[in-house]
Parts: sequence; C-alpha cells; structure tokens
Amino acid sequence: MEKIYDVVVVGAGPAGLSAALYAARANLSVLLLERMKEGGQIGLASAVENYPGGVRGEEGQALVDRMAEQCGHFGVERLRGEALGYDLLGETKRLNVAGREIASKTVIIATGRRAVQLGAAGETEFLGRGVSYCAACDGPFFNGMDVVVVGGGDSALEEAVYLTKFARKVTLIHRRDSFRAAKYIQGKARANGKIDFLLNSVVREIKGGDLVEEILLENTLTNEISHIRAGEGDGMMGVFIFVGQAPNTDDLPGYLRLEGGYVVTDEEMRALTAHGPLPGVFAAGDVRKKSLRQVVTAAADGAVAAVSADSYINR
Ligand SMILES: Cc1cc2nc3c(=O)[nH]c(=O)nc-3n(C[C@H](O)[C@H](O)[C@H](O)COP(=O)(O)OP(=O)(O)OC[C@H]3O[C@@H](n4cnc5c(N)ncnc54)[C@H](O)[C@@H]3O)c2cc1C
Repeated sequence: MEKIYDVVVVGAGPAGLSAALYAARANLSVLLLERMKEGGQIGLASAVENYPGGVRGEEGQALVDRMAEQCGHFGVERLRGEALGYDLLGETKRLNVAGREIASKTVIIATGRRAVQLGAAGETEFLGRGVSYCAACDGPFFNGMDVVVVGGGDSALEEAVYLTKFARKVTLIHRRDSFRAAKYIQGKARANGKIDFLLNSVVREIKGGDLVEEILLENTLTNEISHIRAGEGDGMMGVFIFVGQAPNTDDLPGYLRLEGGYVVTDEEMRALTAHGPLPGVFAAGDVRKKSLRQVVTAAADGAVAAVSADSYINR
C-alpha cells in the first residue's frame, strides 16, 4: 500500500530542520527532503555569531549539524533528492522526486534562496575566505580592513553603509554610472566619508592565496584594467557581492501566490493562492516573503509551519 506521510518537508536548511523537528516531536510521520548537503545556506558561513545560544564563532555547518542530529533523534526520515514537481491541490499532496512519487497529507516548502553570483573568476573559490553575500553575517570579520561592495541596488548601498561600522574603507563598485537604489539610500551612502565610489567598473577576477588579497577590475567605458589590493599589513580584504538574491521557487506550481518570486504566507505559514490559504500547504524560511532572512527567523518559521501542519491534520 502507498505510504502517505503526515508531513513532507522540502529543503533541509534551518527552516526545514526546525519544521521537521517540531513535526516529529508532535508524533507526526515526517520525511525531510534535501537535494544537496543538509544545512542550507548557513553551511557557507565561516562563523555564526548571532544565533541566540549558539557557540561563539562556530561554523554555520556545525550549528545545522546539531539541528540535523536532533531531527534524527526524534525519528525524522531523510531522503536525498530534489522535488521537481508538486501536485498540491488534492487532500493527498504528491511530489515528484526524480521520477519517484511521494505522497503526504501536508507539505512544508522550505527551499530557501540563493545569492545571484557575479560570475567573476575566483568568486566561488574564495566564498567564505573573503567573498561574502551577507554583510550582517561577515562584516565584523573585516574590522579595520578595506572591503569592496559590488552592486548598485538598495542592498548594495545599504550594506555598504552598514559595513562602514567595521571597515577602514568601503569601495562601492558598480557597472553603470548611476544607481538603481532609492534616492534616500544613495544620499546616506554619499554622505558617508568612508565610502569611495568606483563607477562604470566590473570585477573580472578575485585573487589571493588562502584569503582574498586582490581584485581585478575592468572599466566598462575604456576597457582599462585596474587592481584593488588589501591594505598594507592586513593580508586580506573583503568582497561583498549584492547583485541580487533568487528564491528557490522555480519548480513550484503556478497557483501558489508569489511576490518577487517569494511565497506569500499568512502568519500561520499557510501558503496563499489568489483565493486564500491552500489547505495543507505551508512555507517557511527564506523562501517566504518577509523582511528579515536569518537563521533565527527561518527556525521560527519552521516551528510555526509544523504546528500549523499538525493543527491541519487534527482539524
Ligand atoms: C554566506 C552566508 C552567511 C550567512 N550568515 C548568517 C549568519 O551569520 N547568521 C544568520 O542568522 N544568517 C546568516 N545567513 C542567512 C541564513 O543562512 C539564511 O537565512 C538561512 O539559511 C535560511 O534558512 P532556510 O532553511 O530558509 O533556507 P536555506 O538555508 O536556503 O535552505 C534551503 C534548503 O533547501 C534545499 N532545496 C532547495 N530546493 C530544493 C528542492 N527542490 N528539493 C530539495 N531540496 C531543495 C537547498 O538545497 C537548501 O539546503 C547567511 C547566509 C549566507 C549565504
């Protein structure tokens, strides 16, 4: 006979792990699906300093490894695979995982998001070793050093201003001669004496030994190549890239309501359609439309989604 889970959680980042833990502790049968290594984006963080109760300076992967272990302790079933198709309209939800069909009473979508990459040489190689996509997470590591920020939108300019709290100097690199960012954010950035602007420029290569020591730039008008090197005696510099974030929602069905690609939910994490909540379908974490995307909010969303799934099953 076909197995029908109580809850299938798609994505094993902090939101999915937290959802699976809460659902399993409520005695529900839970399948946690992950297409890559468990842990999600935070596994990329060299140190997490803002998760309440976390071990100071520990790597992101260590934090999520403990969450994963906790899930195992409460009997969460795991499957390595990618959800490629969803049929969420009926009483029994069906997921296509590489040709295999998985059935469940409820589904929690916790597929997170990914940073849009710049595409510069060395970008992937130096991720976590000078290259970062998160100023709140990694800014403090560059105390008293030089950093560059790449991008021209709200986040790039806002994060550049934020990084001046730590950095000696912030160079904002943008490929055009004007910014997309809101005027008041531009004003804040321009008024900050620690920020230099390098316009009509693109980063071609990020270089170094163990850590980033230099970047190569090309002027988009003259094709002239220039360099920015780490400050004397620093041994490293930061490269913060804010050229966009993309939610992992490409495979979700069209009847779910998305805004800017993010899943719209209510406070119970119920995923919405044009006609209201879709029964038995929830979303949690970075994939959801919300204002603060961090581990602590992802974990909180996951807990709420699991409790809502339990209420739905016992309705
Ligand atoms: C470099 C870096 C450093 C950061 N540092 C901090 C920090 O110090 N403090 C902090 O609070 N936050 C930090 N963040 C943000 C934090 O990582 C995210 O807010 C958090 O991971 C969101 O968790 P999530 O579970 O919602 O999504 P994610 O972590 O994105 O996890 C989603 C998971 O779903 C999986 N998935 C996606 N689609 C599918 C599919 N179709 N089928 C199966 N699996 C799928 C993905 O592989 C991924 O593992 C950092 C982020 C980055 C990138």
